[in-house]
Amino acid sequence: MHIIPDTLALIGNTPLVRLKGPSEETGCDIFGKCEFANPGASVKDRAALFIVEDAEARGALRPGGTIVEGTAGNTGIGLALVANAKGYRTIIVMPETQSREKMDTLRALGAELVLVPAAPYSSPCHFVHTSRRIAEETENAVWANQFDNIANRRAHIVGTAEEIWAQMEGRIDGFTCAVGTGGTLAGVGLGLKARDEGVCIALSDPHGAALYDYYAHGELKAEGSSVAEGIGQGRITANLEGAPVDTQFRIADGEGWHWVRRLLDEEGLCLGLSSGINVAGAVALARQLGPGKRIATILCDTGFRYLSTLHDPAWRAAKGL
Ligand code: PMP
Repeated sequence: MHIIPDTLALIGNTPLVRLKGPSEETGCDIFGKCEFANPGASVKDRAALFIVEDAEARGALRPGGTIVEGTAGNTGIGLALVANAKGYRTIIVMPETQSREKMDTLRALGAELVLVPAAPYSSPCHFVHTSRRIAEETENAVWANQFDNIANRRAHIVGTAEEIWAQMEGRIDGFTCAVGTGGTLAGVGLGLKARDEGVCIALSDPHGAALYDYYAHGELKAEGSSVAEGIGQGRITANLEGAPVDTQFRIADGEGWHWVRRLLDEEGLCLGLSSGINVAGAVALARQLGPGKRIATILCDTGFRYLSTLHDPAWRAAKGL
């Protein structure tokens, strides 16, 4: 037992847990990286810390400065907690379709919240473009730009991948996760491949995202839709460039929900839908690689963030889940 010197040092070094149900069902060992154990309760704390420290090192973020970002919520929470710990202000632009818990958490952290209607990336009203404009118009402000700022994936090359490698004692056959910015998939993929070229890296793409077709057939093409927050990408972000993807799965929300429910009922783990989609992807990868393999995935955030959505039966019924 030891004492952590400050809040920022709580980011990363998350536990890795063996998931009993998915392992028993496949005859493999399937492990989940507990990113909900970060202080902001999601995988995005890591990217937030690296993006802020990179901006400081470049001299782009100066004392009294403001951090501006467009986010589905978790990156905003990570940025707000890092900003509070370091004495910066945050302005967070978020689509109004995201969970109320994320908005309330951002407000509690003191972030200035700008809600915009959900709009396609091609629209100037999209949350990413809105956040860039606000950053340009605000004095002493930096735009975090998580999608195309590769400080994001560096957090996973030097952090998440190295932790998984050490926790699994170098015995790992496969890794999979879904993509929001691509920081996690590309960063963990690059980090694990640098350790062992033979680790199979798999994309788990929700419906409505364009990456499954891109990695399978070289064409960005989206079909259907998903209610999962924080994932589902339609373009090759700078973070995704050069991501070592060996195989890919398209995962329906229903399969993701199946695993969220089972992990809650059978193992007492309360997760969000992107974690369920990742676990469904890990099960698909286990079936592809065969019994006896060791596979890791990401448990992206806590399900307590979705009590008014995914974990509410009325919400699920309205969404057909
Ligand atoms: N799951 C959730 C709940 C998220 O908020 C995010 C980040 N948007 C992801 C998964 C995907 O992570 P990344 O941005 O590293 O692709």
